[in-house]
Amino acid sequence: MIYVIGHKNPDTDSICSAIGYAAFKSALTGEEFVPARAGELNPETTFVLKRFGAEAPVFLESAAGKDIILVDHNETAQAVDNVAEANIREIIDHHKIGDVQTKDPIYFRNMPVGCSATIVYLHFTENNLAPDKTTAGLLLSAILSDTLAFRSPTCTEMDVKTADALAQIAGIEDIQGYAKEMFKAGSELAGKTPKEILYLDFKKFTAGDTTYGVGQVTSMDADELAELKGTMTEYMNSSFDEHGVDMLFLLLTDILDESSEMLCAGKNADETVQKAFTSAEEGRYYLKGVVSRKKQVIPALTEALS
Ligand code: MG
Ligand code: MG
Ligand code: MG
Repeated sequence: MIYVIGHKNPDTDSICSAIGYAAFKSALTGEEFVPARAGELNPETTFVLKRFGAEAPVFLESAAGKDIILVDHNETAQAVDNVAEANIREIIDHHKIGDVQTKDPIYFRNMPVGCSATIVYLHFTENNLAPDKTTAGLLLSAILSDTLAFRSPTCTEMDVKTADALAQIAGIEDIQGYAKEMFKAGSELAGKTPKEILYLDFKKFTAGDTTYGVGQVTSMDADELAELKGTMTEYMNSSFDEHGVDMLFLLLTDILDESSEMLCAGKNADETVQKAFTSAEEGRYYLKGVVSRKKQVIPALTEALS
């Protein structure tokens, strides 16, 4: 049995690409590929699975001794526990090349596109296969999620074309309307603790000797984001020692304004943001045009920290 698994704090792409790639591999080989997850589902993904009638992947607590395929990441810090003791069979990703190592040569397909699901769909078409209606709906949702419905600078023409093809199979006529519905379900923050909000979509990175974590909350509701500023800044400072990082960042991304507000905590975190983004002023980091953690924030922070 081979597990297909995305990163910790799974987002819609990590869950849906795991399901989609497992379906593809099973269809291609007739063998058993099991979609898995390295953490709890977020509200957006919960909505998506329900919308298309799909089951959540199985929770994998440890990858030790297991055969696994990684999707949507290739960094040890983001992977399921004990990934170093797993047999990694393949990697399908769209991020910078990280530090995951293997003993043998493997199939490693990394493309600079907006979403892993775009690469998953490519595997179907390259092999004259097609995803079923449910899988197509999941892969479409992943693309809309990762590209902020085509607004992110990470989005490519291939993502848009793939989303169109998937929408046809899934029977979604109004793509933007569906995206709006999905984002709304995903930014349902009422009743969530600051800790839950920070970890909704959170990734750890290392640059030199510095380990830092970057969370992101995306919303179409500017008021909701404005409310978070005070509570989250306070929480990040008061709970700082719990998170096991040198610096903590949180992006409050306004999808419609195509901008982000950056909150930070930790020694030198302010200086790092100011160095990374020349437009940032002390105490208020309004970053116009910045919506992508991967393409706009991580490279700038890594550069500032080196
Ligand atoms: Mg992801
Ligand atoms: Mg992704
Ligand atoms: Mg994401």
